[in-house]
Amino acid sequence: MDVTAKLLRVYHVDKQIRGLQSRLGTAEKFLQTQVKELALIDARMAALGSTLTQQTVIAADQEGETKRLDERMAVIRGQMDKAQTNKEYQAFLTELNTYKAQRDKFETTAIEALAKAEEIRKQLADLEVLRADREKVREHAAKEREERFKEIEGRLNELKSERAACVAEVPSNVMSMFQRLLDLRGDLAMGTVEVIDRKRHEYNCSACMMAIPIDAVSGLISNGRLTRCSSCECVLFLDETAQAALKPGGKKSAKSA
Ligand SMILES: [Zn+2]
Repeated sequence: MDVTAKLLRVYHVDKQIRGLQSRLGTAEKFLQTQVKELALIDARMAALGSTLTQQTVIAADQEGETKRLDERMAVIRGQMDKAQTNKEYQAFLTELNTYKAQRDKFETTAIEALAKAEEIRKQLADLEVLRADREKVREHAAKEREERFKEIEGRLNELKSERAACVAEVPSNVMSMFQRLLDLRGDLAMGTVEVIDRKRHEYNCSACMMAIPIDAVSGLISNGRLTRCSSCECVLFLDETAQAALKPGGKKSAKSA
């Protein structure tokens, strides 16, 4: 078996492995999306939780201030009842009005904080429902991913050992070049020769559609020499269609499907 044929075996096994892994990849991606969505909901809930604490503290603080002023005003009212002169009475009245204005401000702030806290509690309750739903989806996604993995696990291991056997046949320097191509280009690591016109020596690389010189094709025909497309650098091979078209007396033109 020539080097191109050996690489082609690796390429085919690799393609199957990628196909299997992409099925797992879709399930994995879906699961990761759910995990991220849950994390976003948790972050929003944590932020709302700390705002709720702030508003509760503000409400309690302002209610405390209101109570303190209520007590202070009760004392002043008592003092007003006992005022000896009108001037003394007026002084207490002014003080009382000042406290009243302060008290109203504290009370308004407390009410606003309580209203905000109530609104946050509602938002948190809504998020709680959303989170529970999302958690169900995540559990389903995790199960799905596990099932997909079990489905492919056996076949994947078979293919991996098949791949290792195929790789062992390829000279190591050629294999490291080819591995880089596979990592970089996946399915486009190899391309077949498209015979555009045999008589006129017109050939294309099926990976990039650029022309391939006759010398390159001759090397492939005669001894399966390692040949790379000068445009896209993929490893070229001759598929059945190309082989048939290149046979003397074969069809003049043949494009791979
Ligand atoms: Zn090419």
